[in-house]
Amino acid sequence: MIECTIIGSGPAGYTAAIYAARANMKPTLIQGMQPGGQLTTTNDVENYPGYPTGITGPKMMEDFLKQAERFGTNVIFGTVTKVELSKKEGESHKIIVDNKKEIITKTVIISTGASAKYLGLPSETKFMGSGVSACAVCDGFFFKNQDVVVVGGGDSAAEEATYLSNLCNKVYLLVRKKEMRASKIMQKRVFETKNIEVLFNYETVEILGDNRVSSVKVKNNVSLDEKIIEVTGFFLAIGHNPNTEIFKNQLDMDETGYLITKPDSTLTNLPGVFASGDAQDSVYRQAITAAGTGCMAALDAERYLANNS
Ligand code: NDP
Repeated sequence: MIECTIIGSGPAGYTAAIYAARANMKPTLIQGMQPGGQLTTTNDVENYPGYPTGITGPKMMEDFLKQAERFGTNVIFGTVTKVELSKKEGESHKIIVDNKKEIITKTVIISTGASAKYLGLPSETKFMGSGVSACAVCDGFFFKNQDVVVVGGGDSAAEEATYLSNLCNKVYLLVRKKEMRASKIMQKRVFETKNIEVLFNYETVEILGDNRVSSVKVKNNVSLDEKIIEVTGFFLAIGHNPNTEIFKNQLDMDETGYLITKPDSTLTNLPGVFASGDAQDSVYRQAITAAGTGCMAALDAERYLANNS
């Protein structure tokens, strides 16, 4: 029987694997649909300590993988399609990969991450990494002194617009309704910032440019007027979906699907099942915080195995 199975291959999953493997737990890691996770869609990572000159997201995740394999992690390319998690302390859990392969495991570390929501425009895909981003903290720096658009009306959009206003020349905030959903205090911050212009009732028609974003065509959904805004950056802040669908009705989650962990730990409501990274974090959502909770999950799993051997 496998001692420890890790689901997901972002910073949380690989960090859990490095710690579990070095603790002789011989972990198996199932990579999921997007090996390397969200970071593989990021160009330059400059805020992860240890890389003084920065690194590309894909290269960083390649290094994470190599480090996990170096200590003996069994890395499987596949997607978990079903889980049967036991409710009883000491009992094993069943994980099904790609609808056929069955894994029986004593502990499970969930690091399935979250996916940013996109509008679904073809131009959005075309300019991904060339002006389109879903993370202002990751990519904002590359738009220093430039003009950018942020889409969304919630707390994320307010926070990202405020963050970008400190770096960029001008920030246009596109809100599809006539009001923002963000908390009053965050809205106040937005309205009081001189270089943020809020465009209510505006939606994106198309992102334009040759190799990179150079402007955005927007439309007022009341007057139906269209206009072009000259910007080099287009930031989505319309929410994230945690990748936790397969755990529904088994693990406790909040109303938006984020897994709930016991305070100051990675313990879920089921014994031997631990959650780390963005699947349980709607607040920080950074590679470094995901890696931190991945480490915590491996240590929690190790302790659980020691108490149940
Ligand atoms: P939310 O779901 O709260 O807001 C999403 C926003 O995006 C809404 O304004 C929504 O518009 C808009 N939107 C959704 N789809 C589209 C679309 N297709 N086109 C245009 N606009 C769209 O997500 P957030 O990420 O902002 O927040 C998620 C949670 O995290 C919330 O609970 C929030 O409070 C929390 N959070 C807290 C922070 C903090 O306290 N510092 C910071 C960031 C998030 P509409 O209103 O019309 O539906």
